[in-house]
Amino acid sequence: MMGSIVSLCKRRGFVFQASDIYGGINGFWDYGPLGVVLKNNIRNLWWHDMVECPPLDKKGNPLRILGLDSSIIQHPSVWEASGHTSSFSDPMVDCKATKIRYRADQLVVYVSKNIWNNGCNIGVITGEKAFAFFEEEEEKVVSSKIKKLCRKNVEDFHRVLFMDIDLSFYKNIVAPDTTEVGTLTAPKAFNLMFETRVGAVVDEKSVAYLRPETAQGIFVNFKNVLDSTKAKIPFGIAQIGKAFRNEVSPRNFIFRSREFEQMELEWFCHKGEAEVWQEFWLEQRLSWWKNLGLDASRINIRRHEQEELAHYARGGGGTRDIEYKFPFSGEGFSELEGIAHRCDYDLAQHQRVSGVRQEYADQAIGAKFIPHVIEPSSGLTRAVLAVLCNAYTEDEAHPSGFFMNFRPQIAPVNVAVLPLQLHEGIGRLAREIFHELRKKYIVTYEDKQSIGKRYAKNDEIGTPYCVTIDFDSLQNMDVTIRDRNTMKQERIGMAYLSERLRGLLW
Ligand code: ATP
Repeated sequence: MMGSIVSLCKRRGFVFQASDIYGGINGFWDYGPLGVVLKNNIRNLWWHDMVECPPLDKKGNPLRILGLDSSIIQHPSVWEASGHTSSFSDPMVDCKATKIRYRADQLVVYVSKNIWNNGCNIGVITGEKAFAFFEEEEEKVVSSKIKKLCRKNVEDFHRVLFMDIDLSFYKNIVAPDTTEVGTLTAPKAFNLMFETRVGAVVDEKSVAYLRPETAQGIFVNFKNVLDSTKAKIPFGIAQIGKAFRNEVSPRNFIFRSREFEQMELEWFCHKGEAEVWQEFWLEQRLSWWKNLGLDASRINIRRHEQEELAHYARGGGGTRDIEYKFPFSGEGFSELEGIAHRCDYDLAQHQRVSGVRQEYADQAIGAKFIPHVIEPSSGLTRAVLAVLCNAYTEDEAHPSGFFMNFRPQIAPVNVAVLPLQLHEGIGRLAREIFHELRKKYIVTYEDKQSIGKRYAKNDEIGTPYCVTIDFDSLQNMDVTIRDRNTMKQERIGMAYLSERLRGLLW
């Protein structure tokens, strides 16, 4: 199914491989004419729901959330204070034969059950092959590679995390992209920040980084926003923007890319209220994802184990992930959004490194303190992928065998106006309707190709409604509205069309 979605994205202009004509560049993607609209629609929905019309608190008052658009390149000290320079890294392993680099925490190893069941320390067994795969790899793929290389079935193997494997066993492992044993190196930390240079003089002082998250731009502006708006705690600062990570193994289409977009809220509150706010935001964000159109049955909430918590989230209420079952998620789910209790870590660090006080003066209790932070942090480009995967609906009855079931509010095209025949009178009337509707909705006008092909194309790009104008329209001043999902057609007077569409679309 992932293959069909990727090829649809290219064919219809949602997403292209970046630098396609040069063979592409791994981990970078371009959003085509439909993709950019879909992405903007999701971005606008988030901005609307978080900044323009934020949720209400328990007393029914709107929360205060202020917007920000901070620079991608910040002073390098920002990343020292945040901990990214020293510890924003992934454990990676290299394959000496193919020179391919893998994230060690995403590899699993299939170890022969003979070894496992004997209760042996797998580190000391020699002469038996084991096979490394990506964690999310489908069993079919795993099975066929194992079979090809050793005539055994996947059921004869036990699955172990690569990170749990004893170093001395590496000489028996066949890496994912080779057939030889023993080509993998031990894991090494690999910093994920992209380095660049600022200014004409190249020396160590000119080193700067492309931001690996938008959050720090918010923290370093905490005082500016506070002083300029006189906001009172609890309040939030929200930002949407690009982030860059030199991911060791970008994969699964746009799911893990090296350049992507994040939608982040930093919610500043009293320490004692942080846990309640974390629950509040978890609930809010969950309903936001459902409102985006994702099936509730494909969404999961996962609490981070203590040992996997980021340095800033230890000691607080921890982190909860909202996950989605993508076609490549196998039995499990993959992260869409993390809702972390970052404690006072970031502001305290910036206060320490910059020497500028980051405290909030609470008039009501007459005290100064560094607020705690709840951070709902999600990926915009990941949201685009989830929406694409969720929308893809196979149905033999549809002319293309499938349709994209986007919620009308985020569909890249709301309405297609289709004159049935190439006829002057029909064309004139259809264009009139088009000009009227385009003031309110995203509308296309299409008069080439057979009506069947035009319906098929609009099913493929997820246009919820097609308005068709025919000879009868000239007589009766009425048109047909075709529903993308049911393919049912409704005849309606032209005078009621716009109103009817409003009801259907919003
Ligand atoms: P992962 O464990 O998948 O690397 P993470 O836990 O490091 O992700 P965060 O740092 O919490 O991710 O980033 C917040 C959000 O940003 C994620 O939930 C995800 O939606 C998005 N995101 C992170 N890395 C990427 C990426 N490489 N490509 C696309 N989106 C990403």
